[in-house]
Amino acid sequence: MMSERDYQERSLAAVMSGEARCAFLFAHYDDSVFDAFHAMAHASGGAIDIVLCTECPRGRWGEFRRRSLPPALRNSLPVKVAARFVGRPVFAEWDYYCGLALTPAEVIDVRRAEHAAACAAAGVPTFALGDYEVQYSRSSRTRYRHAVDAATALLRDHDVQTIVTHPASARHPDHRRTHRLAQECRERTGVDLVTVCERPYTVCSEADGCREVETDSALVASLLPLADEEWAGKLAATNEYRTQIGGLEKTFGSAWMDRDRLGVECYHSLCGSQISVRQ
Ligand SMILES: [Zn+2]
Ligand SMILES: [Zn+2]
Repeated sequence: MMSERDYQERSLAAVMSGEARCAFLFAHYDDSVFDAFHAMAHASGGAIDIVLCTECPRGRWGEFRRRSLPPALRNSLPVKVAARFVGRPVFAEWDYYCGLALTPAEVIDVRRAEHAAACAAAGVPTFALGDYEVQYSRSSRTRYRHAVDAATALLRDHDVQTIVTHPASARHPDHRRTHRLAQECRERTGVDLVTVCERPYTVCSEADGCREVETDSALVASLLPLADEEWAGKLAATNEYRTQIGGLEKTFGSAWMDRDRLGVECYHSLCGSQISVRQ
């Protein structure tokens, strides 16, 4: 019988080489390109891309940006009372931080188009699960359950073998939620699970190794510096995500897109019996 380590090794190798039929399941429209470009670019026929946070609430107040209302007032009584009668306002902190003069609904449309172009270039069809980003609103339980059901159906319809997703210990709350969703899908369908380090939040290097291995308890991990041509492709794809670049540069500094950071990808195999869903 194959050992757990051997199984993980085989599963990971199949993702890296493009042999496994993968679902790239991520929170936001830019994550699969930032975190798993190698696997996506090598994916053979049948791979799919699934994005969780693809909608924003549409309150009757319209769509407020950060400057519309000071943060201290957002949860104030007048706002809550007004929301009861005219609908909840939508605050888009990240979009505002990115310097966008667009409403959240317009931002979502632009990001969908940016990502559709990247997926088309990789030959991978993309699907939206309709949940909200944490910047817009708390996701409702119902919305999340619908997303789990929709993701499970997609995995079955496309006969997916492995989900590639965020790690359990991800820094971004939407990324952690997406990991939980992937674990639920895995329990329902029995697919393998591979997690990838979240860029640009986690910086891993060839010299220091991956920073996520311990926390993910994966037996088998692979840190991959992208080859020249592949890196050129990833840089071009990353530059397509124009609505994100300004905000990421402000947060992580202008070096976040440098090759020694973004040109390194980490893959961890989480298949096997030791897996449990972490909250
Ligand atoms: Zn993300
Ligand atoms: Zn790593």
